[in-house]
Amino acid sequence: MNAPVSLARKNSVCPHDCPSACALEVEVLGGKTIGRIYGSKEQNYTAGIICAKVARYAERNHHPNRLLYPLKRSGPKGSGQFQRVSWDEALAEIVLRFNQIERDYGAEAIWPYYYAGTMGLVNRDGINRLRHAKKYSGFYSSICINLAWPGYLAGTGKMMGPDPREMAKSDCVVIWGTNAVATQVNVMTHAIKARKERGAKIVAIDIYRTATLEQADLALVVKPGTDGALACAVMHVLFRDELQDREYLFKSTDYPIEFERHLKEKTPEWASRITGLSVSEIETFAKLVGENKRTYFRLGYGFSRQRNGSVNMHAASCIPAVTGAWQYEGGGAFHNNGAIYHWRKSLIEGLDLLDPSVRSLDQSQIGRVLTGDTTSLRGGGPVKAIFIQNTNPMSVAPEQTLVRTGFERDDLFVVVHEQFMTDTAKMGDIVLPATMFTEHDDLYQGGGHQYLGLGPKLIDAPGECRSNHDVICDLADRLGAKHKGFEMSARELIDWTLQHSKWGTLQDLETKKFIDAQPSFEEAHFTKGFAWKDGKFRFKPDWPNVPFSSGRPSGPLAEMPEFPDHWDVSENTTEEYPFRLATSPARNYLNSTFTETTTSQSREGEPTLLIRPDDAKHYGVADGSAIVVFNHRGEVRLKAKFFEGLNRGVIIAESIWPNSAYADGKGINTLVGADSPAPFGGVAFHDNRVGLRGL
Ligand code: SF4
Repeated sequence: MNAPVSLARKNSVCPHDCPSACALEVEVLGGKTIGRIYGSKEQNYTAGIICAKVARYAERNHHPNRLLYPLKRSGPKGSGQFQRVSWDEALAEIVLRFNQIERDYGAEAIWPYYYAGTMGLVNRDGINRLRHAKKYSGFYSSICINLAWPGYLAGTGKMMGPDPREMAKSDCVVIWGTNAVATQVNVMTHAIKARKERGAKIVAIDIYRTATLEQADLALVVKPGTDGALACAVMHVLFRDELQDREYLFKSTDYPIEFERHLKEKTPEWASRITGLSVSEIETFAKLVGENKRTYFRLGYGFSRQRNGSVNMHAASCIPAVTGAWQYEGGGAFHNNGAIYHWRKSLIEGLDLLDPSVRSLDQSQIGRVLTGDTTSLRGGGPVKAIFIQNTNPMSVAPEQTLVRTGFERDDLFVVVHEQFMTDTAKMGDIVLPATMFTEHDDLYQGGGHQYLGLGPKLIDAPGECRSNHDVICDLADRLGAKHKGFEMSARELIDWTLQHSKWGTLQDLETKKFIDAQPSFEEAHFTKGFAWKDGKFRFKPDWPNVPFSSGRPSGPLAEMPEFPDHWDVSENTTEEYPFRLATSPARNYLNSTFTETTTSQSREGEPTLLIRPDDAKHYGVADGSAIVVFNHRGEVRLKAKFFEGLNRGVIIAESIWPNSAYADGKGINTLVGADSPAPFGGVAFHDNRVGLRGL
């Protein structure tokens, strides 16, 4: 008879690209296996609740298809033919090729490329230490926050806001542009608490009737890219009906009189024509937020993924400045807490070695970079090698036709360090097996809350998987790159970073499990002034000078509206392309993660396109029939799925599926542009004009 397996619950943090960064309790069985994962009850933002896909993480962690050994390509590029090699052989090959390329084309011909497959500071950002030490091409990180953050910063000046736990003390919670029921589930936890305990109303705003809208008291389905118009009409009503806070406006905002004058024309009738909402829906929403000073605007990323996304985000953040909601507990606007952690990441990222003269290539324009677009290469030579950790650009990057062409280049040496044989790993010359979060040490921060936490190594990694940190340090050693950070363990780096960021030691964090970094009420609500010299919230943003530290000016910056408005720069429909397509997140996937698990796959079914039955009939499309969606960037094949909760002319493809799930192997991001919108680039994932035809 087998000996009983010991079972213990260990603390950790969800590493995935989700603002909730949930505090976890992981069942550990015998040192090699995890069981079920629970939300920590001790950490009062997570409050015991996590999403279903992470609760069943054992399915992913112990998946039979995990990469376990280093691989070297043995067939044509993308053929999926590999042979097993040792770590020594794999790393020696990488070093040989990198050194050759550096000698022949210069160090900038090598591009370390990463993203948020893990949000752990050590294993996500450590790749930058290697690139700084070797002067490899830099990485302009643009794909996620570049449209959202500048919009919020334009008004407040700082990326922080009222304590997200205050949602539970609100009289009205506005969940704007995020499907919190699917991901960042804790928003619902706190909003529903407010409803139960205080009778608060929940308003949800999105471009289709998501599961979050189903739970709302007021559900507003707007046309994509029209949130600025909605916000303006709401503020028009607030001024019209004397629901503004004049004292607050004069004390705490920049141009209240001019702004009120600007809003005179922005009537609910005007916004109704733009947004697709009825006048009475707009009036109801305005009255609700005007009469409930404790209104908490939880502003998500979704509605910023438009060419006018920054303007829309700013416009929404202006509403509590008109009502004065910022002054009250449970009131104000929140997007992310990025500014509260004051990290010193110089050892993790090797910032002391950063050479600003080295070019930095735009993550979102990887297709253009790899196909030799001179503007995207920023005047430099071609990229001859790419080293990828924590991301899957062959699925998630826009302009997939170019991305595919780039990865197919015979003269491009591709190294992918991954957990599964993703679409990107399939294009690798060398593929290295990576650990999961339960198998290495790392440090995490909440974007949607205010805790930082530790995710320690809980179990041994299977096969020969190695952490990103270990691989970076080993490669650095073999490439002759010098930095103190390469000689430290992940735990030593965590300890140093905590201490130099004034968060105590690693031992302290292990004892406390997590640290509540919430700033004071005054700071978080900007009651002593917003983060500008004069302390006043900006209705009139100075867009080029928004304090978005990593941003580089992009798009029609000079044409951005003076005050919040409907900025009509979207990919509007034409006769040839009569639909607006959004590529919204699927509930059981997180970007391209979880697409490998059977449960997530079976719950999602297959790639589908949500379309209104009347729109579908007009094009002779039946429910469940195969269709082609196309625009000037390419075409994608999927199945029509009738769905009433949309405005006419709007279609939704909940994504991201592996390319092999589509009839002709082309994923949804084939249809998405990489044209770098104002003010600082990013990707307008939900702003695509398309046509469709039946098959
Ligand atoms: S809600 Fe987000 S942070 Fe929480 S467990 Fe799920 S994916 Fe992770």
